[in-house]
Amino acid sequence: MKRVFNFSAGPSVLPESVLQKAADEMLCYGASGQSVMEMSHRSKDYEPIIAEAEALVRQNMGISDNYHVLFLQGGASLQFHMLPLNFMTIRKKADFTLTGAWPQKAIEEAQKLGTVNIVGSSKDKKWSYLPEIKGADPEADYFHICNNNTIEGTQYHQIPDVGNVPLIGDISSSALSAPMDVNRFAVLYAGAQKNLGPAGLTLVIIRKDMMERIPAGLPSMLSYKVHADNQSMFNTPPCYAIYIFKLVQEWIRDMGGPEVVFRMNAEKAKLLYDYLDSSSFFYNPVEKAVRSLMNVPFLTREQDAEKADVLNKKFVKEAEAAGLVNLAGHRSVGGMRASIYNAMPLEGVKALVAFMKEFESKNA
Ligand code: PMP
Repeated sequence: MKRVFNFSAGPSVLPESVLQKAADEMLCYGASGQSVMEMSHRSKDYEPIIAEAEALVRQNMGISDNYHVLFLQGGASLQFHMLPLNFMTIRKKADFTLTGAWPQKAIEEAQKLGTVNIVGSSKDKKWSYLPEIKGADPEADYFHICNNNTIEGTQYHQIPDVGNVPLIGDISSSALSAPMDVNRFAVLYAGAQKNLGPAGLTLVIIRKDMMERIPAGLPSMLSYKVHADNQSMFNTPPCYAIYIFKLVQEWIRDMGGPEVVFRMNAEKAKLLYDYLDSSSFFYNPVEKAVRSLMNVPFLTREQDAEKADVLNKKFVKEAEAAGLVNLAGHRSVGGMRASIYNAMPLEGVKALVAFMKEFESKNA
């Protein structure tokens, strides 16, 4: 069966070589006589898998021993609550930039536990830019940004300077898409189901000094300290997702690491944005300097809302028939969106641009 080009925002495309390796090892991993899915997480066969997964992500991202690397569950959405629960604990206030639907949710969860100061918002222009930071509080417990706005298609290409306030970054849709200085952050977190592996695993990277802020007596599963003290094995971790994560880390390493991955991502994104900017039919609504390399929303120039909706649906349907799937924009914003994560091959973006040109010529 022919595989499609999958532009889903998440769960999303995985490297074919990773899927092939997992298929080859499905029934029997090494000499274990078992599938990884069947192994005890405390067995001698599984222990090297999780240890290797951690070592590889440390190597690929340049994470020092000064940080814990945790493999958790509950998605990035659980982090929206765990972060304030564990770290909004000194002055009970934190700064956020409001740049789209996901940071909005992070803010709502934090507001349940303390005071949120919104130090920049791009809501006024439909999230099409990244706001200037005004009135940051030097006494905030932390400063939170969403590094890449999956729905709106904006991305911080430069990390904001927040002085000595601990910086927390949601890298769900941008992890390992480009080199990133982990040392600028106190905490980084990501749901795995875009650039890192399958759904069910959440990567959390925490600078060790942050652990002192965690209140005693939190529910065990909600305490980063409990997870760190137990090397992510307080309870059964998402074993199989961690195994796929490990294979993805090997794939990144073997390609040459984040610098090489970034060059490939930049080439793919340029191809798509250059076409969008040259088209008189489609456009991307985001300010150029902050366009995402991972999620590219686009619209037609049709002004009549009903006609635009008909065109969008036609585009998505015909693209699917051509083997280009999951191109509908997020339900909250409409239009179209191409997610072109690390594992999307250049050929996929070339095929998309060729299809868009043809659609334009037929429908303009
Ligand atoms: N943050 C960002 C930037 C996201 O893209 C998503 C999911 N698409 C989330 C948070 C929520 O992640 P999850 O579904 O893993 O809870």
